[in-house]
Amino acid sequence: MSGATVTVNAPNGRQVKVNTGLFINNEWTSAKDNATFASINPATETEICSVSKASAEDVDRAVAAAKEALDGPWSQLDGTSRGKLLLKLADLVEAEHETIASLEAVDAGKTFTKAMKDIHEVFEVFRYYGGWADKHYGQTIDAGKHRFAYTIRQPIGVTGSITPWNYPLIMVSLKLGPALACGNTCVLKPSEFSPLSALYLANLFVKAGFPPGVVNIVNGEGREAGARLSEHPDVAKISFTGSTATGKQIMKAAAPTMKRVALETGGKSPVIVYDDADIPNALKWVYYGIYANQGQICTSTARIYIHEKIYDEFLKRFLAYTEKHAIVGDQFKEETFIGPLVSKTQFQRVLDYIKIGQQEGATLIKGGGIFPERPDGKGFFVQPTVFGNVTHDMRIATEEIFGPVGAFFKFSDSDDIIKIANNTRYGLSSAIFTKDMIRAIKVSEKLASGMVWINSSNNSDYRVPFGGVKESGIGREGGEAALDENSVLKTIYLNLELTNDE
Ligand code: NAD
Repeated sequence: MSGATVTVNAPNGRQVKVNTGLFINNEWTSAKDNATFASINPATETEICSVSKASAEDVDRAVAAAKEALDGPWSQLDGTSRGKLLLKLADLVEAEHETIASLEAVDAGKTFTKAMKDIHEVFEVFRYYGGWADKHYGQTIDAGKHRFAYTIRQPIGVTGSITPWNYPLIMVSLKLGPALACGNTCVLKPSEFSPLSALYLANLFVKAGFPPGVVNIVNGEGREAGARLSEHPDVAKISFTGSTATGKQIMKAAAPTMKRVALETGGKSPVIVYDDADIPNALKWVYYGIYANQGQICTSTARIYIHEKIYDEFLKRFLAYTEKHAIVGDQFKEETFIGPLVSKTQFQRVLDYIKIGQQEGATLIKGGGIFPERPDGKGFFVQPTVFGNVTHDMRIATEEIFGPVGAFFKFSDSDDIIKIANNTRYGLSSAIFTKDMIRAIKVSEKLASGMVWINSSNNSDYRVPFGGVKESGIGREGGEAALDENSVLKTIYLNLELTNDE
């Protein structure tokens, strides 16, 4: 049995061949009962193709392949050899940069410009972890007279990865890159809203020379395929990026086998603009922090606190900046900054929040509607939206919207604003704008979030640890931190003084 191959025609003329089956043991197979689901183009609402939908039994097959591969040729490769495979993979992704970006733009609604940046990051992430593969090791520790201990880094085993739709392939690279560098094997379940780029990547693993079973990719629904992967007794670690609600379910599913859990979940991040901020710089980043990727970013700085002395002026200039830059429409046009939201569900959810904001008494200053890009009215486009007069208890101020909707607040007291910024169940990121670096550093230390940007927003880098506190997650991706998360630190004691108490 093998999954079908389809050709996806991107509007930029690229024709991309994708195998839509389940990728297990370096082979393509169909799902049980040939089950499939449709992958939808969010700009046109038409079906791109149907994709094999893994059942729990299919996930079991993938896990069994990954388990067997742990003891196969993969286990004979040292860090340097694993690194070479990752470097080869990075080269293959780079060679297909535009093709993969075109596919992701069609499947996830990303602007092609953004998708090109994302895929650039994907091959750099694989390259980065390829470089790390033989440079992550233990220590020698003095443990008293005639005794010492040393630590070694070992693979955890089979790792399960569950990814969301907003950065489909970047998330895959951030999970699989360090997992493979550390010698683990992988079962990946991508989001059912953006399954195609991961399927395209599958063949590149084979081309790069990864042995069968080391990487397995099974698309399917969260509640079946994702749930089975999370609870599976042979999966030693589950790494998840997605909503906080799902993250909690995954923790529960993982508890009986006490597998390692890494969660990158939701956020409602604050940005604080003090009255001494460099305004043109703050405008650029506040705009980027709320509208990039259609606002579908977990670290989106959607709570925008502006000092009262500059509030009116800032808001006026922000609206003018948005008018000029936030061009909505066809994601393949160069000038477009805001493409469609990923799905009908997400589209409806964002429109519902806009209604809720109005019902709660916030002032809708800009946008708020559907963007009629196509004459037939199709496509999940939402206008860039700005709310003013938002109060801290409103749902649009406390709940993650995950769309191009910013809430503006006025503040006056510099101490009070830290309490207000921290008054959320989330703690992923924060941003502050000020020219006073002593204040910037002191405030960053007090903000209850995993990451803080000073004088920018949402410009994360894969070489730097990424992750949240509170209900925004557990663990870190990116940088060297991800290698610790993907390996077991084993301690070995060595006693040099042999005794004879006979
Ligand atoms: P989601 O939680 O609905 O789905 C994410 C993934 O989990 C998908 O692959 C889905 O199939 C799977 N899933 C769903 N239910 C499951 C279950 N019961 N068991 C196992 N897997 C299950 O999230 P989404 O809508 O795809 O993504 C948006 C959310 O992701 C937002 O809340 C956003 O903040 C968050 N996110 C967080 C980060 C981060 O790094 N912190 C990054 C991107 C997105």
